[in-house]
Amino acid sequence: MHIQALLHTLRGCPCGRSHTTALRRVEIGRGTKAQTAEILQACGFPKKILVAAGAHSFSAADGVTDLLQNSGFDLRVHVFDGVHASCQSDVDAMAALCADADGLLFIGAGALGDVCRRACCVTDTDFAVFATAPSTDGFASDTAPITDHGFKRSLPAREPSVIIADTDILAAAPAVLRSAGFGDMAGKAIGLADWRIGRLTTGEYYCERIAALTRGALRRVFAAADRIPRSDPESAGILMDALVTTGIAMKLCGSSRAAAGAEHIVSHFWEIRSLAERRRPVYHGLQVGVAALMITRMYYDLIRLADPAQFGEDETDWCSVYAAYGSAFADDIRACNSPTVTDDTSAQILRQNWDAICAAVREEMPDAAALGSLLRRAGAAAAPQEIGISPSLALSGLAYHPYMRRRMTLSRLIPMLRCPTDYPAWAGLKERRCENHANAFRRTAR
Ligand SMILES: [Zn+2]
Ligand SMILES: [Zn+2]
Repeated sequence: MHIQALLHTLRGCPCGRSHTTALRRVEIGRGTKAQTAEILQACGFPKKILVAAGAHSFSAADGVTDLLQNSGFDLRVHVFDGVHASCQSDVDAMAALCADADGLLFIGAGALGDVCRRACCVTDTDFAVFATAPSTDGFASDTAPITDHGFKRSLPAREPSVIIADTDILAAAPAVLRSAGFGDMAGKAIGLADWRIGRLTTGEYYCERIAALTRGALRRVFAAADRIPRSDPESAGILMDALVTTGIAMKLCGSSRAAAGAEHIVSHFWEIRSLAERRRPVYHGLQVGVAALMITRMYYDLIRLADPAQFGEDETDWCSVYAAYGSAFADDIRACNSPTVTDDTSAQILRQNWDAICAAVREEMPDAAALGSLLRRAGAAAAPQEIGISPSLALSGLAYHPYMRRRMTLSRLIPMLRCPTDYPAWAGLKERRCENHANAFRRTAR
């Protein structure tokens, strides 16, 4: 991936923003492990570094620290037993470790990376990533989801200056991690639709060139769906490249809009509830894939069923919203909804833009039958019970997620659309007529 060439295509962007990134180099390919020291040196990465890795990742990247030491890097290596959720207490501990290092090299993928990037932001420490699995879009991000007192927030984080991934290592990662990366990517289609809907309903900032970046990455990953479960360096590289690209897209437009929509909020809802119940959440990307399929059913039904003549002002039943989150989260929900995002739109605006809203869904999102098939072929989960999400949690996530963020999504507009809702069907908890039709059609066609 050529960062400078990418920045060049964004120069003078019609959106009016200047798109910049601190990321200097991304190397994804076979055998890049052997070049780690050389790449870091060429990018001016500091010599006195802290290396943070999970135990599995450290052995997957076996030999990297020796290579660095032999090239004159001054290392302190910390191998962590298991960080499954990125908590504020982990960030504090990591920040303390950063105190006598000039740079932090994170080896791995997942929650420990979020802890590292947040700690580097707090301590102003240079940050680099050696990725061991294509499981998340967080590698290039300048925000980190951090849980404090049980509530998950997206906080400012340090963008890496270098990302290195050896596709032989990525291909050898457990298949579930690649499937999780695929699930995370699958949500981007909804992210793009919701971003356009945000622009249409509240005049929110939108950049077509950044959206196109995410769209292109998504197309390449969907085309590789069948190869994701195999230990194949090429498709692992395609997936990694797409995850990094969407991470860069978020940074370039200064918002996670370019890569996350309602499906990510649903997965965050499940995660805070799992943490509150002291259950270990499953891989983020698997949750996102399942949530994406639910939201896809919901959005296609909404654009089919909603009648602009019925649109009205926001009729949210706030008592049930607060009940769904419980007293522990009441202050957070109040903060996210004072003012609430529908204050910036009206039934009249929805009516005027309804055709364009429907087009955003149809143009960006595969329908439920197509998305379900893609998830299955990539080995990703498609139903809540496969990832330990109970029917009641699936339903409450689907119904109440929009209130967790001050962000416009089509799902947040439901109380204004005044159309029939069918949360159990959208959650995949009961038979759906239209998908059965699609399956019957495919059987006949064969
Ligand atoms: Zn732009
Ligand atoms: Zn994600």
